[in-house]
Amino acid sequence: MDFKFSAEEEAFRGEVKAWLKTAIPQRWRELPTGFWQETEESWKISREFQKKLGDKGWLAPAYPAEMGGAGLGHIKRLILAEELTYSDAPVSIETEITVNWVGMALQHFGSEEQKKDYIPRIAKGDIIFCLGYSEPNAGSDLASLQTRATEQGDNYIINGQKIWCSYAHYADYCWLGAVTDPEAPKHRNMSMFVIDMKSPGITIRPLINVIGCHSFNEVFFDDVRIPKDSLVGQKNNGWFQLAMALDFERSGVQTAAWNKLILDHMIRYAKTNKRNGKLISEDPIMRSLIAEMAIEIEVARMLCYRIAWIYSKGGHSNYESSQAMIFGSELLRRISDAGMRVLGQYGQLAFGSPRAIGNAEMFRSYLASLSIGVGGVTNEIQRNLIAMRGLGLPRK
Ligand SMILES: Cc1cc2nc3c(=O)[nH]c(=O)nc-3n(C[C@H](O)[C@H](O)[C@H](O)COP(=O)(O)OP(=O)(O)OC[C@H]3O[C@@H](n4cnc5c(N)ncnc54)[C@H](O)[C@@H]3O)c2cc1C
Repeated sequence: MDFKFSAEEEAFRGEVKAWLKTAIPQRWRELPTGFWQETEESWKISREFQKKLGDKGWLAPAYPAEMGGAGLGHIKRLILAEELTYSDAPVSIETEITVNWVGMALQHFGSEEQKKDYIPRIAKGDIIFCLGYSEPNAGSDLASLQTRATEQGDNYIINGQKIWCSYAHYADYCWLGAVTDPEAPKHRNMSMFVIDMKSPGITIRPLINVIGCHSFNEVFFDDVRIPKDSLVGQKNNGWFQLAMALDFERSGVQTAAWNKLILDHMIRYAKTNKRNGKLISEDPIMRSLIAEMAIEIEVARMLCYRIAWIYSKGGHSNYESSQAMIFGSELLRRISDAGMRVLGQYGQLAFGSPRAIGNAEMFRSYLASLSIGVGGVTNEIQRNLIAMRGLGLPRK
């Protein structure tokens, strides 16, 4: 078994690292940035940075060059994702949503016109999408969604409500699932649409996340009129398209790399701060805790590398992605909890508090870790997928 990257891959890592040294603005480091904690200023920096990535083809590295990507293989994409996270670069979940979910689905199911219109703009970082999946009564059981798209002449008329739409208040378009045949059984009654968020009849209402910031929204559609060519793929085939979009390569390596960032904060703090007159790094309980986390990070990394490797050999990962996502997200909770123990009461101080440690990374990570493992597909549902697809257990 050879765990080494090739010389070419290592050279690519070097190139990414060198580029990131100068591409990330210093101001970014001074802001209370991080998952789901944007300010007007940090959002602006993040958008500009993503355009820089887009110019290099690295925003959508998997897309072919003629569509604005870099046509990178799976291993180089993993390396790029790791280095972006290690350097705490200004990229966020809206990039993942736009590039990897919506963009990939459009490439698979979109018409030629839709591809020409959206894909290059996605790859350049010119537009972003929000996901219109969840509804107040349809989360894990997404097939119960009730938002309706009714044909009327050359249009569809959209009525309904979506919830938890990350960054809908910034998004240019919504990737929306809506019922197009209310008489048909679940899983064969809905279709996917691209909707301009400036369309009349759309109301966006903020929902404040656990960190106290505005990242989620409720989105209401009241008689929103959209042209018929906003439909993507086949009518009433939306469930299949949506499920496939959830399955596009998900190595989850960003979460594993994020765990490593948190561990590095812990180690730095433990080496330079004292409790009860002794360096925290000399405390046997804290040392053992940190060592345990380091082992688990290696496990998380290997689970993610396996997925990139499967794809690089022409395979398709399925339950393996679920394994990596569950382990990585639950590790973030364990590691943030460990971080709180290492930092003690200072860990609870939010950004802006004079005694907060660094940019209050541990505080934010602790709170944010609660929702990793819920967004997208919950860990319970992922466990069900492993049971069915990986272990051959019955559906119920
Ligand atoms: C950070 C974050 C970002 C999000 N962004 C978006 C977004 O941009 N767009 C969007 O549409 N949605 C978004 N969501 C919503 C997310 O997709 C849903 O929260 C998720 O699908 C779960 O749905 P629910 O909240 O309705 O919980 P429910 O489905 O009601 O589940 C409640 C609990 O029951 C468990 N459960 C449910 N069914 C089963 C089952 N069959 N077996 C075992 N356990 C089960 C769940 O795992 C969960 O623990 C986001 C959520 C988070 C946390």
